[in-house]
Amino acid sequence: MRNTGALASDVRRRIEAQLADDVPWNRVLNSICTEPHPLAVEMASRAAHTNLGDVRIFRGTKRIEREVVRLLLELLGNPGGSGSLVSGGTEANLIAMLVARETARARGRLTERPEVVVSSTVHFSFTKVFHLLGLTPVVVPVDDDLRMPAKETARRIGEHTVAVVATAGSSEFGVVDAVDEIGPVVAGRGVHLHVDAATGGFIIPFARELGHDLPQFDFTVEGVDSITIDPHKYGLANVPAGAVLFRGAEDAGRFSVDSFFVDTPVHHTLLGTRPGAAAVSVYAVLEHLGRDGFRDITRTNFEVTRYLVDSLRAAGYELFAEPQLNIVVVRLPHAARISQLLESRGWIVSTSKRFGETLRLVVTRHVTRETVDEFLPALQQACQDVTAEAAVS
Ligand SMILES: *Cc1c(COP(=O)(O)O)cnc(C)c1O
Repeated sequence: MRNTGALASDVRRRIEAQLADDVPWNRVLNSICTEPHPLAVEMASRAAHTNLGDVRIFRGTKRIEREVVRLLLELLGNPGGSGSLVSGGTEANLIAMLVARETARARGRLTERPEVVVSSTVHFSFTKVFHLLGLTPVVVPVDDDLRMPAKETARRIGEHTVAVVATAGSSEFGVVDAVDEIGPVVAGRGVHLHVDAATGGFIIPFARELGHDLPQFDFTVEGVDSITIDPHKYGLANVPAGAVLFRGAEDAGRFSVDSFFVDTPVHHTLLGTRPGAAAVSVYAVLEHLGRDGFRDITRTNFEVTRYLVDSLRAAGYELFAEPQLNIVVVRLPHAARISQLLESRGWIVSTSKRFGETLRLVVTRHVTRETVDEFLPALQQACQDVTAEAAVS
């Protein structure tokens, strides 16, 4: 650290210069996160000083967090449940698995080698979680539609199983597992069913209202015990905002750590000191947009997705799978090289490590028809240039 501090104007200028080098949203096609809603940004900055790790000081902010949890439980069909606002999908999944393990312990069915049944497309955050918690994954291969098959899943449940994880909106393909089929076959087996809806949680409820043929994934499905939902993705809140929600009013309390001090309540989250700004920004968006606002945004996202799909097909590209949500995956030879070229020209897309020659494009609030119209020629140019490269070498 420097001895003498720099002028605020200097520091500001340096930070602004770096921020100006970040890629502008209208060139970002790989991210499930988007520019937060302006009211979320405004209110988060107003609450930048707040800390939900100390609810004696920040009792007003704590009230907002409780209200956010209530609103999310209501959105997911379970007003009587419990939950916590956390830093994101990773922490939410961690806490869900901790609660699953503790539930198994309480039921006297925790063995020395606890297992969790997951599909082959489960999010990589679970790799971290299993590592941290000493859980062993039992992997069910996905079916031809990239979904976790219910019967196969049920078949893998054994004496060591503490949980089953289904995904409602995979981050690679936006695929929604048939939670409505998995729930009933897991229910009654004494294992915890967790639904990772980090991506789909703020899309599917509204898309279903708009008539999209998507399976029900929330607490109205028999057997679903917990759900991860990420307000900092399609919920348009500031980073870091995730949530983990439970069916039972006491479930969130199964992971509970006491603090040193009298009058300070127990913690149910991994983080101690944590941003009240996150709760405030989620609250601002939920209250300001309401169901109508989210439905409108979802409608637009699906319209742009359709437009992107039609434009790609018209230009001769082939899709890897028919998109269920707002993630479009294109089959593309030399995908990694094309992605590199696009990045050098300002566009950020992603390519899959696991599914070979594919290009993945995410449609979220900042991606418009204009973005698609500008992107397509850039993609075609990159494809041409890479074909020319390949011919030379
Ligand atoms: C994004 C995502 C996660 C991880 O969430 P973070 O907020 O990045 O920690 C987990 N699961 C799914 C399905 C996701 O899309």
